[in-house]
Amino acid sequence: MAVDATLPYDPGNIFAKILRGEIPCNRVYEDEHALAFHDIAPQAPVHVLVIPKGQWVSWDDFSAGASEAEIAGFVRAVGTVARQLGLVEPGYRLLANVGASGGQEVPHLHVHLFGGKPLGRMIAG
Ligand code: AMP
Repeated sequence: MAVDATLPYDPGNIFAKILRGEIPCNRVYEDEHALAFHDIAPQAPVHVLVIPKGQWVSWDDFSAGASEAEIAGFVRAVGTVARQLGLVEPGYRLLANVGASGGQEVPHLHVHLFGGKPLGRMIAG
């Protein structure tokens, strides 16, 4: 079910549990600011999620309230992951769903990285 991105951060969300090591993930990258892991239900040959380590619900509160270091660290981590996965030369897509109309289901900011095949135009359906 899609979430309301204006609600306060819920530390019980599944990505918070992954960050605390309470449930496993298929990790591809980690640094001070971010963790990246394979999506459990991939929608492309490469489908990786990159999440910040801070308690941010979505791109909305992150962009409004995160420190310069958090924002820079997260954005750089997304780029690093894409490069490390070899996505840059063939090309890839990044996407962040925000709130109900955006279809956001997990209330911890995450950027989807899709690649591994031509992805077509942006929005279907
Ligand atoms: P969104 O709709 O943008 O909130 O996307 C949430 C994504 O999280 C979906 O693509 C799910 O498949 C993925 N997901 C949910 N639980 C897990 C998990 N435990 N490990 C990896 N990915 C997950």
